Amino acid sequence: MPRHHHYDAVLVGGGVMSATLATMLAELEPDWNVLVLEKLEQVGAESSDMWNNAGTGHAALCELNYTPAGPDGIIDISKAVAINEQFQASLQFWAHLVDRGVLADPSSFINTVPHMSFVRNDDVPFLRARYEALSQHPLFAGMQWTSDHAQLKEWAPLLVADRSTDEKVAATRAEAGTDVDFGTLTQQMLAGASKNGVEVLTGHTVKTLRRRDSGWMVRAKGPEGRFEVTTPFVFVGSGGGALHLLQRSGIPEGKGFGGFPVSGQWLRCTNPDVVEQHAAKVYGQAEVGAPPMSVPHLDTRYSNGTKALMFGPYAGFSPKFLKQGSLWDLPRSVKAHNLLPMLAVARDNVSLMTYLGRQIVQSMDQRLEALKTFYPDAREQDWELLTAGQRVQVIKKGPRGGVLQFGTELVRAADGSVAALLGASPGASTAVDVMLRLLTECFPARQEFWGERLRTMVPSYGMKLSDDPDLLSRTLAWTTDTLNLGETSPRGRTAAPSSPN
Ligand SMILES: Cc1cc2nc3c(=O)[nH]c(=O)nc-3n(C[C@H](O)[C@H](O)[C@H](O)COP(=O)(O)OP(=O)(O)OC[C@H]3O[C@@H](n4cnc5c(N)ncnc54)[C@H](O)[C@@H]3O)c2cc1C
Repeated sequence: MPRHHHYDAVLVGGGVMSATLATMLAELEPDWNVLVLEKLEQVGAESSDMWNNAGTGHAALCELNYTPAGPDGIIDISKAVAINEQFQASLQFWAHLVDRGVLADPSSFINTVPHMSFVRNDDVPFLRARYEALSQHPLFAGMQWTSDHAQLKEWAPLLVADRSTDEKVAATRAEAGTDVDFGTLTQQMLAGASKNGVEVLTGHTVKTLRRRDSGWMVRAKGPEGRFEVTTPFVFVGSGGGALHLLQRSGIPEGKGFGGFPVSGQWLRCTNPDVVEQHAAKVYGQAEVGAPPMSVPHLDTRYSNGTKALMFGPYAGFSPKFLKQGSLWDLPRSVKAHNLLPMLAVARDNVSLMTYLGRQIVQSMDQRLEALKTFYPDAREQDWELLTAGQRVQVIKKGPRGGVLQFGTELVRAADGSVAALLGASPGASTAVDVMLRLLTECFPARQEFWGERLRTMVPSYGMKLSDDPDLLSRTLAWTTDTLNLGETSPRGRTAAPSSPN
């Protein structure tokens, strides 16, 4: 049971989003009573868990869908730049938490793993154009290009082992790429928040939210039975479970939203010799009809210092909104107000449905075929199949009735008293940026008071690193050094850039 009946903030869910917000609030408002309610017995065990997501520190260094080509072939890098800026904010916040001793040894949750994009045949000109557009930008400086099999063999030998030298291939490589264990990060952040006074209760499920005066009554159930707490602010950070609670809150801003769940599977390599030969995250081009986040990639991962190799995800369909959810999740989410958008999405996304249908029925041989486009020499006996986390894509009202959106949507009441996070892409990598946005939108009156503290946590807060080369180089030196990414500065630990006024 919670210690109090009234809290200054209640955070639903113990994933990376709530953990980030709880950590920020503990530092911004040390006197607040903050409660985190997580329904599972452990925090960080749903989408944020290491094996439920790909752990890519999304900085647009390798994901081809962030740089679409226009009809004239010109590459639009604006989304890639925005995502990289967002990831820089995450790196800064994590470095700040390492400096403060909230996060332990950085290699327990983040490791340098070069990010590569890899294409074949007709996609080579697109990758070349992408490389030329991005490598001019300061956030992508140092990106390398090759179309040479011998160079590829040095970067990622599995890609060319047993591949005909007649095949046209090309790749880019960014040494600054990262692999992040968001589950461990979540656990460490919530343990730190707990020490700083945040109450974290696992095994507690929030059932509903009811308006109460200018705030909310949160009804929940724990091992000792049902209880209610009141609060002026609720964050619905329950991942796939957020849509149901948003609907139960009854706020008008939540009307019209629906969810489309996409499940996934990975292949994990069981042969240590193969694992040892690869050291990169290699992203390819999406198949026609594939949702952007289901582009398979061959990834080096680190779990508690142990190297692993994964391939996937293979998309699939399950009506569950959480991996540990219910088969009734999708049917229960259909309401009169979102029926039209949902039907419109079904009508307009036939190629996606066909793609998912094909993915669901595919055999192990077909999965291996997909793997062989990256690693031609792959053998079935070296790989095991794992189930990935669920992603619930956002459906919302749109010009033709409804649209399916692959990004993240922060839905909040007009008075800022409740906010829910829907969607899962670019996901955990941008948790810091999303929670900073939430703080700005839901607590406008606190901004002046928080400004300086926020700039201590994230020195580039409110600014664009792309516009300030000096701040960019100072923050990069600090995050690289503090998070042990790349080489450590011979001068010892780099200090955080001082916050500009
Ligand atoms: C296959 C896959 C690959 C991905 N790859 C990447 C990647 O490479 N990089 C990246 O940055 N992101 C990636 N993501 C996205 C990323 O995992 C998510 O965006 C992120 O983990 C979401 O965090 P969260 O805190 O919102 O949700 P979660 O981690 O799911 O946490 C929500 C929590 O709320 C709890 N909960 C639910 N309902 C209730 C309730 N009623 N009461 C109390 N608790 C409740 C759940 O048990 C859960 O612990 C991937 C996701 C998937 C599925």
